[in-house]
Amino acid sequence: MNSKVHQGHKARKRFGQNFLHDDYVIDQIVDAIHPSDEFTMVEIGPGLGALTGPVCDRINRLNVVELDRDLAARLATHPFLKDKLSIHQADAMKFDFTQLKEPGKKLKIFGNLPYNISTQLMFHLFEFAACVEDMHFMLQKEVVNRLAAGPGSKTYGRLSVMAQYYCQVVPVLEVGPEAFQPAPKVDSAVVKLLPYEVPPHPVTDISCLSRVAADAFGKRRKTIRNSLSHLFNVEQLTALGLDPTARPEQLTLVQYVVLANALAERKE
Ligand code: SAM
Repeated sequence: MNSKVHQGHKARKRFGQNFLHDDYVIDQIVDAIHPSDEFTMVEIGPGLGALTGPVCDRINRLNVVELDRDLAARLATHPFLKDKLSIHQADAMKFDFTQLKEPGKKLKIFGNLPYNISTQLMFHLFEFAACVEDMHFMLQKEVVNRLAAGPGSKTYGRLSVMAQYYCQVVPVLEVGPEAFQPAPKVDSAVVKLLPYEVPPHPVTDISCLSRVAADAFGKRRKTIRNSLSHLFNVEQLTALGLDPTARPEQLTLVQYVVLANALAERKE
């Protein structure tokens, strides 16, 4: 059965609601998260509490950020969970996660994310990498592949460059549609993101990295001499040690950092 009604709640498509109901998968995810009160624990999109419950069995306090008012209200009156939860009825895409920080504690963030916003949400979350211990997310398998992809891969793109700038990316588990209700049309996967204490290849201005990656991959089929011609001429690319006839998917993260820092220097 693939009912849209789960535990008396009608799944809302616009909020990307696909509720987990496979206990084996839930246990695997909770084990990977390794919940601990040594950290400020944060769940994005708790929904009906499939992960919230088992995580709360192991800790005393959990922040949850849920956009759906009905689901937030349900959790607020949940007999076993309500005393452990700090409920933020809010849009995670606009949420300032630094407001949750407690002295001496980093954030541990997790969630079975709404797939319709997952890429944009990733970019938003990277901004908080400095105060995050780790993040575990259920995403579309294709998005996990993009996060983890390296140069030369078809799925390597701006998301890969930005994710790998901030974090070590570790795919954890693949999950089929049958683990959810209603079942999504795509395969899913869990990924662990471990932000670096200090990025191994730092940029002077992160907006420059985002810009060169967006512009280069925006015209994927073109060589960088074409896609980045508004930022660098052939001589400048060559002086930076880059092949102007290379395509965006051939450049390593370090080469994107070189471009970003050259752009930032010029802006100063
Ligand atoms: N964690 C639950 C589970 O695993 O069964 C629900 C996961 S469901 C895929 C995504 C959840 O994110 C839903 O509860 C949905 O209401 C919530 N959500 C959707 N958009 C959101 C947003 N922008 N900010 C916060 N929560 C959101």
